[in-house]
Amino acid sequence: MSISANDPNLESWVEVAPNSDFPIQNLPFGIFRKEGQAPRACSAIGDYVIDLLAVAEHGFFDDFTFDKKAVFENQYLNDFIGLGKPITNEIRNRLAAILDTDHDEWDAKELGEFILVPMSEVELLLPIQIGDYTDFYSSIEHATNIGSLFRDPENALLPNWRHLPVGYHGRASSIIVSGTDIKRPCGQQKPADAPPVYGPCKLLDFELEMGFVIGKQTNLGDAVATANAEDHIFGLILFNDWSARDIQKWEYVPLGPFLGKNFASTVSPWIVTLEALEPFRQQGPVQDPEVLPYLQYEGKKNYDVNLEVAIKPENGAEKVVCNSNFKYMYWNMCQQLAHHTVNGCNIKVGDMYASGTISGPERGSYGSMLEISWKGTKPVDMPDGTQRKFIHDGDTVIMRGWCEKDGVRIGFGEANGKILPATPVT
Ligand code: CA
Repeated sequence: MSISANDPNLESWVEVAPNSDFPIQNLPFGIFRKEGQAPRACSAIGDYVIDLLAVAEHGFFDDFTFDKKAVFENQYLNDFIGLGKPITNEIRNRLAAILDTDHDEWDAKELGEFILVPMSEVELLLPIQIGDYTDFYSSIEHATNIGSLFRDPENALLPNWRHLPVGYHGRASSIIVSGTDIKRPCGQQKPADAPPVYGPCKLLDFELEMGFVIGKQTNLGDAVATANAEDHIFGLILFNDWSARDIQKWEYVPLGPFLGKNFASTVSPWIVTLEALEPFRQQGPVQDPEVLPYLQYEGKKNYDVNLEVAIKPENGAEKVVCNSNFKYMYWNMCQQLAHHTVNGCNIKVGDMYASGTISGPERGSYGSMLEISWKGTKPVDMPDGTQRKFIHDGDTVIMRGWCEKDGVRIGFGEANGKILPATPVT
């Protein structure tokens, strides 16, 4: 596969700071709105969004037959993604060619004024209309921590865990874009030795995850093989699976997560294409025991994505509480998709699949406060002198992700959300 946009030697006529998430080699996709305008599809470079309709109006996509106005002047990327990888990858390569310093056909300054909009002047919206959402539980470090905290450290993993990627069907309607405030959820909790009570969640947590977005549908009855799974994955996004631990603890038996999860999940506004992540492939951990044939795979299916989580109190300085990496996943995306469809369950463009909490091997790399504070027994010291066992009102939780290699940094931007006080029903 030729991916000209990934060439580490490419340089753009757009100035890009060395620590920017959006060099010419990234070119992720999103949706932006400029004040007074309809939402439009965009890419990003440096501190600018690239207005894809403006690029089309300049004639750069004239050889593509799809309806540019309908696809690009759109509230969501679904129609764009649905064009298929042969087109969306070519659009990304074309953008790299347009933005490359090595050109002589157009006046860069004039073109820049036409197709670039400062990111500070636009609102970034939820990039896709999410059809179905599934959350997995695929980090062995996370599953082991949770099993140790709530069951038996000697037998932390349940018998099925190493045989299949455990997951549950989540809620798509409450998946929101970075920067959207979240009201602390209320619900039933069960104090020890007392009847259940209703009230604001006291143990509000984040879960550091990555999500992938489906770009190619299947028909009911079809299974996706691990070898073909990447054809169906358009790109990746940062994902915070907000979790109300006290609500979750009381309600989850016997059918799994419900109101402790479905009040909100925060995603980053940018979808980084799977192709942009190609240089960052990594071998996953050895799976023991050997998995069933339909879950076996060949090649490097994990990705080296640095991840961090920071907590920023109201009017306070942020503190990084977690440094993890997507490469730790025991079950990879191809296995997750193969398992999800092995029974004939169909998938659709715009579906979202989240990895499950991504914890690394030690405390500094755990992907939730439940693990970091070890169920509240090891509070985190904040720069303002306060402590955190879980998330307080006024706190903003910020997730960031980036890959780095050969002097190229491919970033995901941020998935941040601020917690507002609860408003209990009376
Ligand atoms: Ca989760």
